[in-house]
Amino acid sequence: MICDNISVNQKGHLTFAGFDTVDLATKYGTPLYLMDENKIREHIRTYKNAMEKYFPKGSVPEFASKACSLKRLYRIMADEGIDIDVVSGGEIYTATKAEFPMERVFFHGNNKTDNDINFAMDCGVGYFVIDNEQEIDAINEIAAQKSKKQKVLLRVSPGIDPHTHKKISTGSVESKFGVAIATGQAKKAVEKILNCKNLDFIGFHCHIGSQIFESSPFVTACEIMLEFIKEIQSDTGYYPEMLNLGGGFGVRYVETDPVINYADKIREVAEALNSLCDKNGMKCPVIHLEPGRSLVADAGMTLYSVGSVKEIGNYKNYVSIDGGMTDNPRYTLYESEYTVLLASRANDEKNFVATIAGRCCESGDLIQENVKLPKPQRNEILAVLTTGAYNYSMASNYNRVPRPPVVMLKDGKDYIAVKRETYEDICALDL
Ligand SMILES: *Cc1c(COP(=O)(O)O)cnc(C)c1O
Repeated sequence: MICDNISVNQKGHLTFAGFDTVDLATKYGTPLYLMDENKIREHIRTYKNAMEKYFPKGSVPEFASKACSLKRLYRIMADEGIDIDVVSGGEIYTATKAEFPMERVFFHGNNKTDNDINFAMDCGVGYFVIDNEQEIDAINEIAAQKSKKQKVLLRVSPGIDPHTHKKISTGSVESKFGVAIATGQAKKAVEKILNCKNLDFIGFHCHIGSQIFESSPFVTACEIMLEFIKEIQSDTGYYPEMLNLGGGFGVRYVETDPVINYADKIREVAEALNSLCDKNGMKCPVIHLEPGRSLVADAGMTLYSVGSVKEIGNYKNYVSIDGGMTDNPRYTLYESEYTVLLASRANDEKNFVATIAGRCCESGDLIQENVKLPKPQRNEILAVLTTGAYNYSMASNYNRVPRPPVVMLKDGKDYIAVKRETYEDICALDL
C-alpha cells in the first residue's frame, strides 16, 4: 500500500488507521472524509524534530493551512507547537475560533485587501508576508493608524522552475506571487520596507512549488536567496533574522511516486545551507518551512458509494460515485493522480478498467481515469487514497451538493471534526 496506515482485513475490506472502512461508511454515510490524526502528528514531529536538529535554534515548520483548514487541525498544530500559514480572513477567523496563538500566524496571499489587513491586525496575526509593492504602503499605513509596528517578511520569487505542474509551480520570475529578484524589484521593495516606520522587517520568504521529491530545488533556492541577502546586506546593511524556504515536499498519490523521507531531505537542505553560509561568512538565519500536503495528504482518505456502472460497448466504462468534483476538484483542475480501490472487496482481482465519475452535471467531473478495479456493484464502497490535502479545503456546493463530514480517527476512536452539511445549511444564506 502507498502508506502504512492502509491495509486489508480478513473480510477483504480496506482498513484505514486500523478501522474497517466499510463499517465507517455504514456508520457515517458517504461521501465521507477520513483523517488519521496519529499520522498527522507523526509528520509534524518528523518536520519539527529534523528542523530543530539541523537548522539554527528557533527554526520551526508552519502548516500551510490552505491544505486543510478546519478548527480541529489548528488545535492539533497548536498542541504540537508549530506555526501556521493563512491566506485569507476566513482562515484567520477559523484559527481564532480554534484559539490558535495568533502571534504564531503568518499571513500570505498576493492580494490582501484593506479589510483583510485590518482584520488580521485586530486578530493579532504575528507576521504578514508582503507580496507586492502596494501592500507595503497599505500595511504600513494601517499599522500606523493602529499605532502598531507590524512584523513583516517579503516574499521574493527566486526564478526557479522545480519541474512540477504549471499550476503548482510558483517560484518563477513571471509567477503571480512575490517580487522578482531578477528584475531588481525585490531589492526596491526591501529599500521601501526599510523606510517604513510601522514595519518591523523580519526576513525573506520564497516558495518554489509543490510535489517536489528532491532536495536540489530547495538547495538552489538557498543559493539564490543567500546571494540576494549578501547583495542586500552590502547595499543597505540589512540582514534578515528569518528565512522561509516555503513548502512543497511531495506526497505519494500513486505507487509510482517515490517514497520520501522528510527528515533526510531537511538534513540535505540544512547541510547545503550551512556550507553556503560558512563559505560566505554569513550567519544562518532562523529557517522556516511551510509544509501543507506533506503533513496531511496521506492522513486522509475519501469513501464513496458506487452508483451506476456504465459499460459503453467497446468504448469506455464509467463507475459513478455519490461525490466527485464537489469534494475533490483536483482531477478536474490539474489531472491529479490518485489511487482508487474498491474498499468492499480490496483483495479481489482487478479485471475491470473504468473512469471514476462524479455526480455533477459536468463531463469533466471525474476523479480518475483508467482505474483497474474488481467490477463494482451498486452500493459497494469505493476509496480514494491520499485525500487529506486540498480536498475538504477545495470543496464546493456546485449542483447544491452538500459537503461531506470530516471524521478523525485516533487510537481506535473515531470522532467528527466537521459535521455533514445539510440541505438546510445550503439554503442558510438564501433570502
Ligand atoms: C501552497 C503553499 C504551501 C504548501 O504547499 P504544499 O505543496 O502543500 O506543501 C506553502 N507555502 C505557500 C506560500 C504556498 O502557497
